[in-house]
Amino acid sequence: MTEAIVIIGAGEAGVRAAVSLRERGFKGSISLVGNEEHAPYERPPLSKAVITSELLPDAPKIISNHLELAERSIDFIPNVIAEKIDRSARSVSLSDGRDLQYSKLLLATGALPRRLGVTGASAENILYLRTFSDALKLRHRLEPGSRLIVIGGGFIGLEIAASAIARGCEVTILETAPRLLMRGVPEVVAERITDRHRNAGVDIRTSVEIEEVSGDGKQYSVRLKDGAVLVCDLIVAGIGAIPETHLASACGLAVENGISVDSYLQASDPDIFAAGDCCSFPHQLYDGRRVRLEAWRNAQDQGAIVAANMLGFKTRYSAVPWFWSDQYDETLQVAGLFDPSCSTVERKLDENTSVYFHLAPDGRLLSASAVGANNIIAKEIRIAEMLIALRAHPDAADLSNPSFKLKDLLKNLNKD
Ligand code: FAD
Ligand code: NAP
Repeated sequence: MTEAIVIIGAGEAGVRAAVSLRERGFKGSISLVGNEEHAPYERPPLSKAVITSELLPDAPKIISNHLELAERSIDFIPNVIAEKIDRSARSVSLSDGRDLQYSKLLLATGALPRRLGVTGASAENILYLRTFSDALKLRHRLEPGSRLIVIGGGFIGLEIAASAIARGCEVTILETAPRLLMRGVPEVVAERITDRHRNAGVDIRTSVEIEEVSGDGKQYSVRLKDGAVLVCDLIVAGIGAIPETHLASACGLAVENGISVDSYLQASDPDIFAAGDCCSFPHQLYDGRRVRLEAWRNAQDQGAIVAANMLGFKTRYSAVPWFWSDQYDETLQVAGLFDPSCSTVERKLDENTSVYFHLAPDGRLLSASAVGANNIIAKEIRIAEMLIALRAHPDAADLSNPSFKLKDLLKNLNKD
């Protein structure tokens, strides 16, 4: 058989991998199978510009159109589900009746929204946000004056809340944890973000448990365990994402909080790889701890690295985790993995902008988070990323001093 690479999932990781294969000179066939109707598109704008834009938006495309894929001889197969993998025959069965043969297979199947499992919750009364179609539905329902309840105070919930405020809605956030962004960022950063939302008029309720949801298509209500009943025009849940692993499990691949891959992104079958939100991998920077990252840059970078590895290069994936979130006129950026055992050092850059460095008990910089104006924090977080990658043990006094140039820490490390 001539070399044939099949990619399941035409999202960030799948498309990046397909394009990288050609950039690296791969001459065999590439099939990119996607179960959505649109040309591959970016998800980050879905909770932001797609909802707030005045004009009906187009899907924010990853590459400008189908033609760009065709020009690279990438066979993009939209609106078709990959239904089964036969590892002994090395084939993938599609919902349109075709079977695709592969010499190497990439699973880039992403993640799906976790569904709310309380009495009364159904597809009719709760909206979720993962796809462009979901975003259009939500946008259509967010009218000035509508009362929105957001269930979940994570990234999706907070970005939707900020966008809904921009559209003139009344917003309540219900979060089960004692504070917002419990897992993603330290308390001091979560407090900053909470204040920003409260100042914008969002009613934030933490430590609440939802007992029942109901609605008649016009008006909806949420009953909490403490007996309170909240009435609204629309409910959206952003309560986490579940990796899409069912194809992998069905064909017997190892799955552990996502499709289990090694640091080369190879699954438990040497001809199958996985990348992006759907996979977990051992992270070299964090003692080989198995992690699964749900972030845009991770999907892009893994797409490029997995392409190289499918062609026989041996490149470990060990990038410093990084993500951003835009809410109102502020940006949050986080580099590294936040660990609650860390101590935090603040570097105050101006009245509204700080970088927080999170140091392990032995002084090693494990992560950094920053909130404020994008142009100020981006540079500092970039340097923090390099320090994290170098396993630096920076001096807390230097970090907290805004006149001290962080770049100098890099120079000293490079000298050692
Ligand atoms: P996906 O983009 O989910 O792509 C997977 C594709 O595979 C999907 O189209 C899926 O339908 C398809 N698929 C699955 N199974 C099959 C099958 N059997 N057959 C065919 N196709 C299949 N990250 C940030 O860092 N910053 C942000 O601001 C940010 N904002 C976000 C906002 C929203 C609303 C969402 C949903 C995510 C956001 N993210 C953000 C996260 C980021 O977009 C994801 O981490 C990234 O899209 C993951 O890419 P992926 O290719 O792994 O998965
Ligand atoms: P998330 O960040 O995991 O946040 C979900 C939040 O909902 C958590 O705080 C969770 O608390 C809470 N929760 C869970 N069950 C609940 C319930 N029954 N009632 C109330 N609260 C509940 O996930 P997300 O915000 O839904 O995001 C989903 C996906 O989109 C992820 O892949 C995310 O990375 C991606 N995304 C990323 C960005 C970004 O990086 N800027 C932006 C938007 C979306 P517990 O922790 O206690 O479970």
